[in-house]
Amino acid sequence: MRLISLLCALSVAAGASVALKAQEGEADLTKTAAAKKPVKKKPIKRGPEARQLFGAAKTPAPMAARAIGFYAKGCLAGAAALPIDGPAWQAMRLSRNRNWGHPKLVALVEKLALEAKEKDGWPGLLVGDLSQPRGGPMLTGHASHQVGLDADIWLTPMPDRRLSEREREDLSATSMLAADQVSVDPNVWTDAHVRLLKRAASYGGVERIFVHPAIKKALCEADAKDTEAPWTRKIRAYWGHHYHFHVRIACPEGSGNCEAQQPLAADDGCGDELTRWLALVKPKPQPVTPTPPAKPRPAKPGLTLDQLPADCRTVLSSGTDAPVVAAKPPVAVKAPPAAAKAPPAAPKKASAAK
Ligand SMILES: [Zn+2]
Repeated sequence: MRLISLLCALSVAAGASVALKAQEGEADLTKTAAAKKPVKKKPIKRGPEARQLFGAAKTPAPMAARAIGFYAKGCLAGAAALPIDGPAWQAMRLSRNRNWGHPKLVALVEKLALEAKEKDGWPGLLVGDLSQPRGGPMLTGHASHQVGLDADIWLTPMPDRRLSEREREDLSATSMLAADQVSVDPNVWTDAHVRLLKRAASYGGVERIFVHPAIKKALCEADAKDTEAPWTRKIRAYWGHHYHFHVRIACPEGSGNCEAQQPLAADDGCGDELTRWLALVKPKPQPVTPTPPAKPRPAKPGLTLDQLPADCRTVLSSGTDAPVVAAKPPVAVKAPPAAAKAPPAAPKKASAAK
């Protein structure tokens, strides 16, 4: 179970990381310009850690449904719960309280479960994490899953009985990997897995599906033999994701502050991209003399509430069950850049009258 959250922790998700890099890139440019002057480092004042606040929210924000911000930096208003039991699914790891999503995502998971059972010979979905009741960063696992548009679905078929709460905590998912780590294990990987993933990719609302490179390879091979139109483009290789696949839907209508990810690459990801991924995940030969353990890197500080979109403050404080949010710290006044012309001072009385 821990393995699964760790795997998903890696799933900043390809698209997410690209967009984040773009944001970081912009920040770096300003750093270069400012780097000429030696600046005395002041201790950085950090607001409250967003993951503590969002992790404490037990109920959704009673607001209209809205995904706010980016998949890896945002929150969710008006979340819907995926019922823990359905005619073709069971939610797992109930203690985490992460069966919440944008209503569009919840509807999509339910539809996939029903259709895969009816048409693909898939006995039902075991559903892992969606989002927290108000989205946002989490105390453990996942960099994404913050805006209610990401869902993890196990590659283990659902058993034909209702699992107890205890079993839903303890049951381990099955890895699809063969011993070589670059192909799927034919003892566990089946044509029904292919049909399930093909169906998930067929839905218009689904923008990306992340799977392990070995699974992507199996799907590319299946797609090549398929007489229907190619369908693997949305399914992209990524780290982890050999116990579950990760479905991501696009920003829904009515979510004006939802930030889209980079558009999908034009190719199907079965060529050079897959070759590179397989080389990355192929186990490296062990050195004869063991290398000394690497120095542990200092933990990266989590996102603060101030780093999330401003509307996430409202999402947190909305309703009677809202977790207590500390008052907003005073905003530090930034000096205008030297080159910028100072705006003319507004008459004091006029601005006070507004
Ligand atoms: Zn995930």
